[in-house]
Amino acid sequence: MTTDPQPPPSIDTSKAHPARVYDWLLGGKDNYPVDEAVGEKLPPEAKDAARQNRQFMHRAAAWLAAQDVDQFLDIGTGIPTEPNLHQVVQDIVPTAKVVYADNDPIVLRHAEALLVSRTEGETDYIEADVRRPELIVEHARRILDFDRPIALSLIALMHFVPDEQDAHGLVRNLVATLPVGSYLVLSHAASDLYPELAAQVTAEYAKGGIKLGFRTRPEVERFFDGLALVPPGLVTATEWDPSASSTSEPEGSGIYAGVARVI
Ligand code: SAH
Repeated sequence: MTTDPQPPPSIDTSKAHPARVYDWLLGGKDNYPVDEAVGEKLPPEAKDAARQNRQFMHRAAAWLAAQDVDQFLDIGTGIPTEPNLHQVVQDIVPTAKVVYADNDPIVLRHAEALLVSRTEGETDYIEADVRRPELIVEHARRILDFDRPIALSLIALMHFVPDEQDAHGLVRNLVATLPVGSYLVLSHAASDLYPELAAQVTAEYAKGGIKLGFRTRPEVERFFDGLALVPPGLVTATEWDPSASSTSEPEGSGIYAGVARVI
């Protein structure tokens, strides 16, 4: 829970928000009693899933930086939680540029943490909704060179966007702005790995006023249509580890994860 006695008016503490529930699951302090109330009702596996999803982000970002990708567009960034994406990639490529976007005002409030870039690189933040991708791309063009490869990360984001809002079309249109050699990094809660847990999580979020739409494996696969998934392909968050030497945690995340190349 936040220690600020008076949150600014842009922060609505009367209803739960995805970024703040996720922060609670990760053990963060930037959430409110309404968010904690949703988190407390979730099965204990939800905390593991959040941590495993975040660790997928770390591994995928590090892998991309190791491929010399030095431009990142991260939509649905979440409340800063160290290490943030730019810290992971700038440890490997100090000149890397990262543009972050999220639609929750609480993320903007903590954005200073995202803007502490290495001097050799650059980071930027825009408060924006993935359902208005043209605004995000227009802003990102000020920092990123769309003639060179960019990694677009949509990590644990698209299950907040239902089919009625053309989730797949949004991703397709965003990817279409990227040149060949770019990457899509996406993770997504599964409806078909642990169906009972998935139903329970969805129901508890719904009681807190948050609509979640978990998807099946084929539905998540469709986000990668026309792209070349890199090994190990579309797997679960814990299984996504291209370094054969490391031993991955046994699967329990209930989250699909993949990285694909724009061809
Ligand atoms: N990508 C981070 C955070 C995931 S939590 C990580 O994986 O660690 C999901 C985030 O998506 C939240 O911060 C939430 O505010 C954001 N979000 C949800 N719907 C969104 C939308 N329509 N546009 C932009 N961001 C959104």
